[in-house]
Parts: sequence; structure tokens; C-alpha cells
Amino acid sequence: MGQRFSSSRNERHQDLASTFKEIFKKFTVENKIIPQETLASIEVSLSQGNIQVANSLITNALKEIDSTPLNVAVIGESGTGKSSFINALRGIGPEEEGAAKIGVVETTMERHPYNHPKIPNVVFWDLPGIGTTKFPPKDYLKKMKFNEYEFFIILSATRFKKNYIDLVKAIRRMKKDFYLVRTKVDSDVKNEKEFKPRTFDREKVLQQIRSSCVRTFQENNIEEPPIFLISNNILSDYDFQILMDKVVNDLSVYKRHNFMLSLPRITHAAIEMKRHFLEQKIWIQAFAFGLLIVNPSQTILMDKDVEDLRNSINHYRAVFGVDDASLQGLAEEWQVSVDQLQAKMKSPHVFETTKEETIQERLSIFYEVFHLAKGDVLPKNVYVKKLFYLKFYFLDMVTDDANALLREICVKNNLVSD
Ligand code: GDP
Ligand code: MG
Repeated sequence: MGQRFSSSRNERHQDLASTFKEIFKKFTVENKIIPQETLASIEVSLSQGNIQVANSLITNALKEIDSTPLNVAVIGESGTGKSSFINALRGIGPEEEGAAKIGVVETTMERHPYNHPKIPNVVFWDLPGIGTTKFPPKDYLKKMKFNEYEFFIILSATRFKKNYIDLVKAIRRMKKDFYLVRTKVDSDVKNEKEFKPRTFDREKVLQQIRSSCVRTFQENNIEEPPIFLISNNILSDYDFQILMDKVVNDLSVYKRHNFMLSLPRITHAAIEMKRHFLEQKIWIQAFAFGLLIVNPSQTILMDKDVEDLRNSINHYRAVFGVDDASLQGLAEEWQVSVDQLQAKMKSPHVFETTKEETIQERLSIFYEVFHLAKGDVLPKNVYVKKLFYLKFYFLDMVTDDANALLREICVKNNLVSD
């Protein structure tokens, strides 16, 4: 009897370990939000039946994901587009509240932090003064507290001059990651088109910019880094997405999640990447939650769960830029009412109360719909399923709203949607 009991316990532990492993099979190494070693330790704890240990490893990993700060330095001469770039990364229009001021001549040598409005742990630092400073790059970087940044984004609106080369050398010596960005390529392309309409070849113009940027490095005999050509005015064109993919890829695992979520929704591919990351987090949360179920017969969502779901959908809406504040900004820009924008979406209405049904009733219907459409994606426990199917359901709903909005933005701005 005792033996049967212990072998079934053993099976249950092996089951848990393999379910956990199964979850992460869906996500590639570059996209994982928990380090491989931690995943391996969790698996071992599960298979040995150390449920408490496994659970605390998961909880700590989730905390790490949420709380790890990410400081990014943006550096370049005055007028190269630092403020514009920082606004673009924060998804803030130049005239919106809290925007970095554009086109102002830099008069200070003080660095300035700009928090991401939706992901406050992500901070972009505007580092002014290269080009005007008398300090050698090493001292300049010390003054700017170079050690506090995860990586540097170095902007130039023309070819990279000698002071940039010195800066790159100093950053390399300090063993920091950096990315070289040539801004304002939209102007170059536009000018060429205007002045040489007959021979204009967009790819050739871009190629020329690239080679002129690389040349300075070659002339100074230093290894040429990749150069990303961007326009702060049209992020979806040129190399912006390539740059962001590279940054996400280079980041350490725990920093990846928040940076990914902070990125502006400029393409459907970027929206899908965000969905993918958030989905992974829901899987992990569901698994950890399931481990600690005290009352397996509970099937009804409690008030705190409804609150948790409300917070989740609000978080997804903020991350995808379809929250009330973002819609308000767009409504002003397009001179329509927020209601008009919301009317085309589902996610703003989920928690609106009506006389016809209670929130609980509505959530039950959503749950059934998801269950019917997707089948059983989580193991047995009904309570866990209810809570987390709803999170998956809301994530999909918000993603649909974000994609629909992006299509509309592309139409309004005459952009091709990917
Ligand atoms: P900062 O001094 O480095 O902060 O540069 P700003 O962001 O203030 O930009 C200086 C000027 O360049 C402003 O007039 C911007 O509108 C303009 N600008 C910045 N980035 C771009 C870009 O990618 N393309 C174009 N066409 N103009 C840009
Ligand atoms: Mg500026």
C-alpha cells in the first residue's frame, strides 16, 4: 500500500516536471524570459517532489522579471535626434505631456532620465554634450556614470566624426555594449529623390550612407561596428526594428521581458513578439499557481481573482498602447472622441458593468468561449483553468485590438502595414 502510494507520488512529480518542461518547449532560447539554469533547477526540484522549492524559484524568477531595472544611455551631438529617439522609444508624441523637448539647443552638461510611461523600470538617459565637451571621452563617460547603463545607443545625423570614434574606443575599453545609429535617413532619401528624380535609387542611397559611416572607422583602423539607419519620424521604415531585435537578443534574460514590452507598437510583428512574451509569463504564473492550490474542489473565481483579471487586462492594454491614456492621445491627434475609438475595440468594455449580466457571468461566458475554441491547454484544476484561460483570452483580445488600431494608424499615415 505504502509502496503504491509513494510510486504514484513519484509519478505525480515526474508529471509536474515534464509539464513544466513542455511549457518551455514552445519558446525558443532567444525568447525565454527565465534563464536556462533556473529552468533546469525548477525541473529538478519538481521531479524530486520539492514543490515549495520549485514554487519559490518560480516566484523569485517572476519577481526578477518585474523588478529588474534597465537603464539605456542615448548619446550624440546636439541636434542628432536624441530627444526625438527617446520620445519614439517611449511611444510619446513630441507635444504630449512629459515628452523630451525637440529641437532645443543643449545648454547643460547634465544627463536627464526619461522613464518609460508604461514600464517604469525602463529608463532612457539623455546624455548631452559630446561635441561641445572639453573632456576626453573617458572622463566624459565617467562624469555621465557610464557604469549605470546596460548599453549605449550612439546617434549621429551625419557620417561619424573623429569624436565618435574616440567615444566608441572608450566604450569598448569599458566593455559596454553599444549600437551605432545614423538618424534622419528619411531626409537623405527625400533630398536625393527631389534633386535626382531620374536616377534616384533608394537602396543605393542607403548603401551610400552606410559606406560613408563605415569609412571613418576604416580610416582610423578600428573594427567597424554594425550601423543602423533609422528615421525617428517613420520608425517602421529602415532599420529600427532590426536594431530593436538585436538589442532584445543581446540583453540578459531577465532584462529582456520589460524591454520587449516597452517597445513601440510599430509593426504587427512587434505586436506578435509582445504577445509571445506575455503568453510565456501567463504559462509560468499558471503553473506556479497550480502548484499551491489548497482547496482542489474550488471552482468559482473569487473577488480577488476578478481584481487580478482586471489588473491583467489593464496591463496588457497599456503595454499594447490601447489603454485609455493612449487612446486619449490618439483621439486628440485624429480629432475624434475616445468613445469612437473604443467602439471598434473589445478590451475596453470587458469590465464595464451592465444591468443584464454580472461580471462573474460575463467571465464565465468568456471562459466557455476560450475552452471551446482552444480545448484543454492547462491541466485539470478548474479554478486554475478559469483564472488563466481568461488571461490568455484577454491577451488575445488586446492583441486583436492593437492590430486593428495599427492598421488604422497605417491607413491614416499612408504607411504600408506589414
Ligand atoms: P537632440 O538635440 O539630439 O535631442 O535632437 P532633437 O531630437 O531635438 O532633434 C533635432 C532636430 O532634428 C529636430 O528638428 C527634429 O525634429 C529633427 N529630427 C530628429 N530626428 C529626425 C529624423 O530621424 N528625421 C528627420 N527628418 N528629422 C529628425
Ligand atoms: Mg535633446
